[in-house]
Amino acid sequence: MKSLKKLFRFGAGPSSSHTIAPSLAAACFLTQLAETKHDSIEVTLYGALACTGIGHGTAMAILQALRQEKATVKEDGKTPVAHPLTMTFEAFLGKEAVLKRTYLSLGGGEITSPDDPNAIERDIYPFRDLNSVLSYMENEGLDDFKSFALRFENPDIDEYLRQTLARMFQAIENGLNAKGIVPANNNPKLVWPRVAGSIYQKAIKIEDPDAKREMLLTSYAYAVAESSASGEQIVTAPTCGSSGVLPAILYYEVKQNGKTLEQAKDALYAAGIFGNIVKQNASIAGAIGGCQAEIGTASSMGAVALSYLEGLDLKRQAFAAECAMEHFLGLSCDPVDGYVIIPCIERNGMGALRSYDAYLYAQYVYPIRKNQVSFDDVVYAMKMTGDSLASAYKETAEGGLAAILGKK
Ligand code: SF4
Repeated sequence: MKSLKKLFRFGAGPSSSHTIAPSLAAACFLTQLAETKHDSIEVTLYGALACTGIGHGTAMAILQALRQEKATVKEDGKTPVAHPLTMTFEAFLGKEAVLKRTYLSLGGGEITSPDDPNAIERDIYPFRDLNSVLSYMENEGLDDFKSFALRFENPDIDEYLRQTLARMFQAIENGLNAKGIVPANNNPKLVWPRVAGSIYQKAIKIEDPDAKREMLLTSYAYAVAESSASGEQIVTAPTCGSSGVLPAILYYEVKQNGKTLEQAKDALYAAGIFGNIVKQNASIAGAIGGCQAEIGTASSMGAVALSYLEGLDLKRQAFAAECAMEHFLGLSCDPVDGYVIIPCIERNGMGALRSYDAYLYAQYVYPIRKNQVSFDDVVYAMKMTGDSLASAYKETAEGGLAAILGKK
């Protein structure tokens, strides 16, 4: 598994696989190109990158990263590719091709490449799954994920996670104060006013404590998801599309439930380890595993963070993560017209509510009924399900709600 810094990335929405990763690929290609004489660059997007590149702002992200260059971006959704998020960068001198590199977007802003070793990020945790992590912790007498992570991360990780939390909270506050509509190239089907602030104003006046909690969580999750869809700065948690779930849980615990910023920062260790395990063994990209990989993972991470903050032990934290993921299995990725708006923004709100429910199950159901499904089991099930999903349900805007609303 890689550093938590590679899971919680800082960047602009709307899509870590379609904007942050392509920007990173462009930067890697420029490094490769440094010594090579050229006068233009052509970038080709394949698979889901081509199908939903316009709505996800991919070309703009690449052109910004290549801004000193004469560059063009074209979409090729027809040529079959082995990986659904493939892009090639090719430099020319006149008509002669002088350098070509291929990059794959892996989800959450990470890339890899068959021909650019600098694009490959290295593992720092020598573990494959939760079972091996928990066995190590038991042998070493560790009873929290922070102590575990500090054995493998650089010492600056604590400060990095402090910044991560600050940026998450800033995104919520920006989103609650934002006005106007989420930009979608004047697409009449996607007129989405920034409603997070209005939901919050309604929520703080609700008297029923359960309804108030649910609407506050919704407003916080919407605040980040609307910011991400508007191309504003967020933290991947684990992706841009699902970036509202975990911050909503943490913000609620600090603002409404008396937890400190330090406690919320420490909860990021636990949430991050679970996100990392999904990323390593299945996927966190909608284009690879469907929305179960994004919102399902984010909801697991939120459930773990909340369980940690509420003092549940490691087994119950794992139960909460498993429970949250289990009930998102099979969720397809079907963004209407390729914009991260419908169903994505609302899914962040629902993801946060399911995080809370999973925590309640870990708190109250776990002692009564033995759970038969481990977190590793559910991650494996999620991978199998994702592998079986047709490409129409994996961020191509060809199936599900995208097929129905897209035709109207
Ligand atoms: S449907 Fe889910 S996975 Fe797909 S773009 Fe929206 S949030 Fe991401």
